[in-house]
Amino acid sequence: MDRVFIKDFPLDALETWVQGIGERPFRARQIFRHLYNRLIRSWDECSDLSKAFRTQLEYGTRLDAVETAATEDATDGTRKFVFRLHDGKLIESVLIPDPPRLTACVSSQVGCALGCRFCLTGTMGLQRNLSTAEIVDQLVHMQQAVGAERRITNIVFMGMGEPLANEEALLRALRILLDPTGFGFSHRRITVSTVGLVPQMVRLGRESPVNLAVSLHAADDETRNRLMPINRKYPLATLMDACRAYPMPSRKRITFEYILLKDVNDRPEDARRLVRLLSSVRSKVNLIPFNPHPDLPFERPSEERVLAFQDILHQAHLTATIRQSRGADIRAACGQLAARMVSS
Ligand code: SF4
Repeated sequence: MDRVFIKDFPLDALETWVQGIGERPFRARQIFRHLYNRLIRSWDECSDLSKAFRTQLEYGTRLDAVETAATEDATDGTRKFVFRLHDGKLIESVLIPDPPRLTACVSSQVGCALGCRFCLTGTMGLQRNLSTAEIVDQLVHMQQAVGAERRITNIVFMGMGEPLANEEALLRALRILLDPTGFGFSHRRITVSTVGLVPQMVRLGRESPVNLAVSLHAADDETRNRLMPINRKYPLATLMDACRAYPMPSRKRITFEYILLKDVNDRPEDARRLVRLLSSVRSKVNLIPFNPHPDLPFERPSEERVLAFQDILHQAHLTATIRQSRGADIRAACGQLAARMVSS
């Protein structure tokens, strides 16, 4: 019999599964608590389950969907994890301390098909989607690594891959992460970042209350077409219509990510275009000065350019923060460490 990955199951599916092997449904809640509250590493730790049931779990399930292949610590406290999947493929996740927050950046695919020009993961192509268990287990392993005294407070889906290109596994993972029986994350603490897959965005808005971030990176179609091939399928007008219609409680806003690339999208006229584009959306902007990499054909803008860009947004009363590069000395930007391990 093939062993199932136990972390593939949201609570209701786990109830069905335990009933299928002859147990009472409440056993699912016990298992869920063991997996995501107590973060067990072995079924032997579950002393409230009978020995016979533990043996059944031992032989019928796989507890781990990922294993830690490497970690690297940056001088600023950022820690990068490379995880090996059961088929040997590698993904990466990053833990970013920013007290009182501890943010986990997780991956949703091995590689990515969307080919954004400024992204190293995009150069790898898509190898495969992650399963729900592989998404959830990144969090379990990172939380195990930091220990009980510090809890991961925030989750961002900004690692390898486009989360909405793997929507089924993502939505199941979100249900597990939000379930109060397990991790119990607040929806305010989870952000899904997308390049703008419009139909999947609509579905996410309907089915999950988590925060949405849109990787915009250009405020005109010509530049965005060059940077992000997905823009040819869902151009800015279509994307912004979807953003305006996105269901959000009144205090929430969509975060727009904007990587600043020298002489590509960092000029004052680009900032003014961005102001016009966002004028009718409840938004905040995250400006990210590009982290140069020898394999990518872009440069980082000067500090003055970045501040001037931010200033134009501020003058238009847009909330705009500049995201400091974290973990630059360990190449914590999207896809960089796993890409290096794969190519070495
Ligand atoms: S930025 Fe995101 S969507 Fe674009 S290639 Fe990289 S991982 Fe894929």
